[in-house]
Amino acid sequence: MKIVLLASECVPYCKTGGLADVTRALYDELKAQGIDVMLMLPYYKGVPAKGITSTDIEFEVLMSGEPYHAKVFRGEDGFFIYNETLFYRDGIYGYNGDYEDNDLRFAFFSKASLIALKRLGIKPDIIHLHDWQAAPVAVYLKNSLRGIEFYQGIKTILTIHNLGYQGIFDKRALRYLDVDETLFTPEYLEFFGKVNYLKGGILFCDAITTVSRRYAEEILTKEYGFGLHGVLLKRKDVIYGIVNGIDYNVWSPETDPHIYCRYSESNLRGKGLCKLDLLRELGLEPKRNTPVVSFIGRLTGQKGIELLEENIQFLLDAGCRVVVLGEGESSIKEILEKRHKHREGLFALKIGFNEPLAHKVYAGSDITLMPSLYEPCGLVQLISLSYGSIPVARNTGGLSDTIDDYDPFRDDGTGFLFDDYNASAFREAIKRALVVFYIKKRWISIVKRAMRKRFSWRDSALQYIDIYERLLKG
Ligand code: ADP
Repeated sequence: MKIVLLASECVPYCKTGGLADVTRALYDELKAQGIDVMLMLPYYKGVPAKGITSTDIEFEVLMSGEPYHAKVFRGEDGFFIYNETLFYRDGIYGYNGDYEDNDLRFAFFSKASLIALKRLGIKPDIIHLHDWQAAPVAVYLKNSLRGIEFYQGIKTILTIHNLGYQGIFDKRALRYLDVDETLFTPEYLEFFGKVNYLKGGILFCDAITTVSRRYAEEILTKEYGFGLHGVLLKRKDVIYGIVNGIDYNVWSPETDPHIYCRYSESNLRGKGLCKLDLLRELGLEPKRNTPVVSFIGRLTGQKGIELLEENIQFLLDAGCRVVVLGEGESSIKEILEKRHKHREGLFALKIGFNEPLAHKVYAGSDITLMPSLYEPCGLVQLISLSYGSIPVARNTGGLSDTIDDYDPFRDDGTGFLFDDYNASAFREAIKRALVVFYIKKRWISIVKRAMRKRFSWRDSALQYIDIYERLLKG
């Protein structure tokens, strides 16, 4: 079985978010399972040149009748597609806003990748596409390239990492996809007068996965479907939910080099020291038996920042120390900054992407807040569990699949979930957590249970392999 992972991001080459970590982890784990797998990525300006060599494969790709030069480079784990005009730029999707020709850039990447495979003489059994940037591959294979023998029999699987991002463009994009007006209908590629790349992928791929079981169900509903629930419902039989994992070599308090003191489930003393260290570093007043409550994540509507913002005062009144580490929309930053001004010593706001600090926050926190509006999988709660920072989270998507709501009667669970997306429902869940926090024996048992939980990439990779095998069997 030969698999090509085709994506717009992969660590260590290029990253704007979780997609880059996921494609890397999936590649590594498939390889570890003995699968013949390779990557196919765009060669952006920012990709470090080390270990990447040119091949003698170059060709012209016709995009809406215009030739664009493609050059193929080889890396240790796959191939890169290069075009100077399209990829030798700052940023991946844009610089201070999206690039206006992203429709052209990623259709080119998809089409050139397919041509490159033919030139390289590599015929995969399955091309695993990630998000809208790779989705055009499925459109080409089932339409313009359909009659070419080399491409016949290649199956595609499309993973949707976040349905909130679909690649919606002006009608001109139809021509980049090499399809005509007959596909510009609501049944096919049209989406409210525009062309939708992800929709094309959903319609023409052979199987669809998304990053948790619950999210796989949610995207079939109007509430979570971002306008695509109808088309997803049509393909319901080939949609699977496979939860992401985390890398426990990176995210483990037993080995983490960034934290003040290492600790484990059987020796939690170090966690208390990490907490003091965090308070000191952030200029927060230490106080015995005070919960440290944190939020780490992108400052966008998806993450439920409005619910968080409405509860900061409540948390401070309840005697908590509150930490927010995030980067994102400037309007959200302004609101948080305003609130922060008056609460120095109790509330630390750290704006920016700061990986070492994130490690310290996970280790030094008692509670992690995730009031997300929607959450396809979520890594923050998986990392928090590993560090014994107990999630208080909305019962949605991957949060539902990976957090067991605390049951006081059975004294069982690894976090506190709430259903309705509003500030008071969130506050009730926080209150439940705070009540248990002060019953030390119970809290420690939750912390230990959380730290014992494992969400390994191995399990996820085996499920992907299972789907690959099913696809090959037809
Ligand atoms: P999403 O992919 O929707 O942004 P996830 O929960 O899946 O959210 O993954 C977020 C990842 O990014 C986690 O590894 C988290 O630790 C990290 N992260 C998010 N914001 C920051 C930040 N400001 N500084 C450091 N790490 C961050």
